[in-house]
Amino acid sequence: AMASQILPIFAMNPLIPSNFTSRKVAVIGAGAAGLVAARELRREGHEAVVFERSDRVGGTWVYDPNVEPDPIGLDSSRTIVHSSLYESLRTNLPREIMGFRDYPFVVGKDDGKKQRDPRRFPGHREVLNYLEDFVNDFQLNELIRFETEVVHVGLVLVEDERKKWVVKYRRRMRGGDVDEVFDGVVVCNGHYTKPNIAEIPGIDAWPGKQIHSHNYRVPEPFRDQVVVSIGASASGQDISRDIARVAKEVHIASRSATNGLPMKQPGYDNMWLHSMIESAHEDGTIVFQDGSSVIVDVILHCTGYKYYFPFLETNNIVTVDDNRVGPLYKHVFPPLLAPGLSFIGLPWKVIPFPLSELQSKWVAGVLSGRILLPSQEKMLEDVEAFYLKLEAAGVPKRYTHNMADYQFEYNDWLAAECGCPPTEKWRKQMYEEASKKKKTQPETYRDEWEDQQLILQAQEDFRQYLP
Ligand code: FAD
Repeated sequence: AMASQILPIFAMNPLIPSNFTSRKVAVIGAGAAGLVAARELRREGHEAVVFERSDRVGGTWVYDPNVEPDPIGLDSSRTIVHSSLYESLRTNLPREIMGFRDYPFVVGKDDGKKQRDPRRFPGHREVLNYLEDFVNDFQLNELIRFETEVVHVGLVLVEDERKKWVVKYRRRMRGGDVDEVFDGVVVCNGHYTKPNIAEIPGIDAWPGKQIHSHNYRVPEPFRDQVVVSIGASASGQDISRDIARVAKEVHIASRSATNGLPMKQPGYDNMWLHSMIESAHEDGTIVFQDGSSVIVDVILHCTGYKYYFPFLETNNIVTVDDNRVGPLYKHVFPPLLAPGLSFIGLPWKVIPFPLSELQSKWVAGVLSGRILLPSQEKMLEDVEAFYLKLEAAGVPKRYTHNMADYQFEYNDWLAAECGCPPTEKWRKQMYEEASKKKKTQPETYRDEWEDQQLILQAQEDFRQYLP
């Protein structure tokens, strides 16, 4: 027996015209994406229930000194540690562009309880402060069920044939799984927890240790070791530098470093950039494609993560294939299951918070009927055309959600659908500036900059949102 899904909340919310439908919506995860989704759903007049496996909000931004027992994450029965943060991590985006659009990431009030970090590229703890402030200011805590893990999500058909979803959840320290029916499910479980591991010919016979960056916290265990780190992405570079302070040698294996010889890294006498690894050998040797070879103690895989939705049962309507979650209309809705099922925060090489904010507004508006989606056929055609375009451009499937080249175009499309102004000009310019500086001055971009003018524009803009 289903209770009526139409909630009296409209009557109380003058902003929502009463001909829009209020839905009961499950949000999976209380990280940045789940939190802003919950806020937008409630603003739109929906009833949001947020399920959070851990005992606090913040997701990725909750630093956990523990690591998983299997350092490369192959053992499927291992205990999962959610966050991949390392102790020294500072943001790689300036705080002005990183925050939600209507809730600027400025230095919070000093209430004596929290240690604030006023730096422009603050340490990770400051981001958690910000998300906790967000939760308090919008009173989101009351929507969240902590220590409650979603273990299964599946479609059910009820009498009137409107699609509904069963969410099966498990509360820590309380036996038994519980089923609850929802009109919609918004998946916000994050995608930086399940390691992607590099394949290395000969690795089975190689005697050294391997670890994925998911399980990297502090450099100390690498003292006096010879380390190969694979991957030269943002965290690969930061971690290599972190380790080089104590290790004997650090050798970075990178796809982007073309043939040539190993390159000593400026400012270091114990760090080199190589081409990719060719093979690993029984005597501990690692051979690189540039022909060089080194006897190595540890391989550190900074090779990224995999999308993973172990709880989701869609009869293969939604699949993860070579790290493409699909088919998804605009990276959010599976056409055949829209609008009931949606995904927030999948795109990468983006500014995640404001992007998730716009996706959340779109999902909330579509669920209420205020914003219309195209027909299933039209959405499927759109997705198909997008995949063909990627293929024609030679973009591998696993880069489907890499939005490096068009995140602002995408944001502006979402904003138009939602009736919001497009991304602020200063935010786009500041992102370009920060990206450039990160490349040209990887050691110092967090503490030296030249875009003071843009900071002033941002602060001016923030005044409309600050008390
Ligand atoms: P998460 O923060 O991962 O939250 C997911 C939540 O879902 C978690 O709380 C988890 O416990 C919960 N959950 C998962 N499965 C279940 C389940 N089955 N049932 C119930 N709950 C569940 N972004 C920036 O803007 N700036 C940066 O400088 C930056 N640096 C980064 C550095 C690193 C090393 C990493 C890994 C990421 C970084 N990011 C950065 C990106 C960061 O992931 C996003 O900022 C943001 O935290 C993503 O939020 P999310 O809500 O999508 O996922």
